[in-house]
Amino acid sequence: MDTFDKETNVLIVGGGFSGMATAVALQKEGINDFHIIDRGHDFGGTWRDNSYPGAACDVPSHLYSLSFAQDFDWSRSFGTQPEIYEYQREVARNHGLYSSAHFKTEMVDARWDDDAARWMVVTEIIDSGARTTWAAKELVLGVGALCEPRMPDIQGIETFAGEVFHSSRWNHEVDLRDKRVAIIGTGASAIQIIPKIAPIVGRLDVYQRTAPYVIPRLDRNYTSIERTALRKIPGLRRVVRAQDWFFRELQIPGLTRDSRFMAPIKFLSQGMLRMQVKDPELREKLTPKFTIGCKRMLISNTYFPAIARDNVELVTSPIDRVGPHSITTVDGTERTIDVLIICTGFHVTDSPAFDLVHDGSGQSLATKWQREGMSAYKGATVPGFPNMTMIMGPATGLGHSSMIYMIESQVKYFVEMLKAKKRAGVNVAEVREQAFNKWNDWVRERVKTTVWITGCGSWYRDAHGNAPAVWPSWTWLFRAKTRKFDDGAYVLSR
Ligand SMILES: Cc1cc2nc3c(=O)[nH]c(=O)nc-3n(C[C@H](O)[C@H](O)[C@H](O)COP(=O)(O)OP(=O)(O)OC[C@H]3O[C@@H](n4cnc5c(N)ncnc54)[C@H](O)[C@@H]3O)c2cc1C
Repeated sequence: MDTFDKETNVLIVGGGFSGMATAVALQKEGINDFHIIDRGHDFGGTWRDNSYPGAACDVPSHLYSLSFAQDFDWSRSFGTQPEIYEYQREVARNHGLYSSAHFKTEMVDARWDDDAARWMVVTEIIDSGARTTWAAKELVLGVGALCEPRMPDIQGIETFAGEVFHSSRWNHEVDLRDKRVAIIGTGASAIQIIPKIAPIVGRLDVYQRTAPYVIPRLDRNYTSIERTALRKIPGLRRVVRAQDWFFRELQIPGLTRDSRFMAPIKFLSQGMLRMQVKDPELREKLTPKFTIGCKRMLISNTYFPAIARDNVELVTSPIDRVGPHSITTVDGTERTIDVLIICTGFHVTDSPAFDLVHDGSGQSLATKWQREGMSAYKGATVPGFPNMTMIMGPATGLGHSSMIYMIESQVKYFVEMLKAKKRAGVNVAEVREQAFNKWNDWVRERVKTTVWITGCGSWYRDAHGNAPAVWPSWTWLFRAKTRKFDDGAYVLSR
């Protein structure tokens, strides 16, 4: 058996919604021997890291919140980053999670030790580099799917002499007022940032590879009467939440079966573009050329007007190179800039976190997935990696509804697994290869009729051309499939 410094029943890696929901579910089961590690300085994950101007949720507040913590006085229909982050810290305080948390602590290696039937996890304190080896009976990976910034591979980008940062690592020290700024990317973060900074910068060049579908954002402040009603009327928050969930679920036939069902949403998007952008040339550049839903649909009422401003240029010629003070596109145009903001998303199907976790033979999850494609049984468990549960693992991502719904489904599954193991008097559960393959065959078959593989490039896809990140069906079906622990799919041992 390897030596270790600390031991615990459950080691949770990540203090975002996944880690927090897991911790609270363990407490409810009377399991208090758990620890949460996070390389950040607080709980929050996504909503701690993405503090860029305009950062906000695309899912209504009452749906994008934890089912067991609904009593929060949301100020608007869609939560903004500061409010969601505050919500998360309030949940952490109310449930006493800070006492189990180790911040600025990064998992740098995790290995399954077959003899000891435990995970040996090495963590490193970011400021000092001090290392600790944990022996954990259960390892929960709540490391997030949109967590590792993806930098674009552009010639010369390392030579840029001005300020450069990724949207999820916003540099609040940089004053953008009157500066010449470039944004690379027109995805979900970019379209929130652009309307906020366009009025204050000197000029803004927006480098677009693919025009996204943008639909209206039905966002507004709650009136004081609504807030009082939500606080005082028992069950009202649940009704609002259920209604928000239901209307989002109506997109599933269009996204997964027949994209013609998406026609009303496409019509809405095109109508908004026509109304907000009068210049036909600019409108043409902003018109998406792929099946609606293939890339995540974005919601904003202010993006198109911001792009149409006089001090904003939408550049569609591909970038050739970045120099110390400029960007040159393949058409030969050089645009001088002071600040470069990268909005090219995250490593989703190739997250560096997958390199850190190893099975009993020393093979990493990344190596396994490079060979076989990214997959996990019910988005959670992988053969060869016993007692490891992923939250927000493969084929759990959504483009249309709340990820928290999926996260809580998986957390329930994990807790049911612990209960089943206790009942059976076993301490190791490893998913059977056969069950794992059957699940993945089902997912891949379902993906074949979805919009996500209709030809656009998106973070849903991997290098094999599959769409292993998204859940290709109704969210209620995922919940139904993860409601109980199916011990027949596992080898249980002592
Ligand atoms: C800009 C943005 C907007 C989004 N908007 C929406 C939305 O509108 N609706 C929606 O449903 N979802 C949205 N998402 C997805 C969002 O990520 C999920 O909804 C949810 O917050 C994920 O929670 P999580 O805990 O699984 O992961 P995260 O919140 O990403 O947390 C993961 C945590 O793991 C930590 N971590 C990672 N690796 C290590 C390591 N090696 N060691 C220690 N700690 C580690 C990170 O520091 C982080 O705190 C958005 C994501 C982004 C980036």
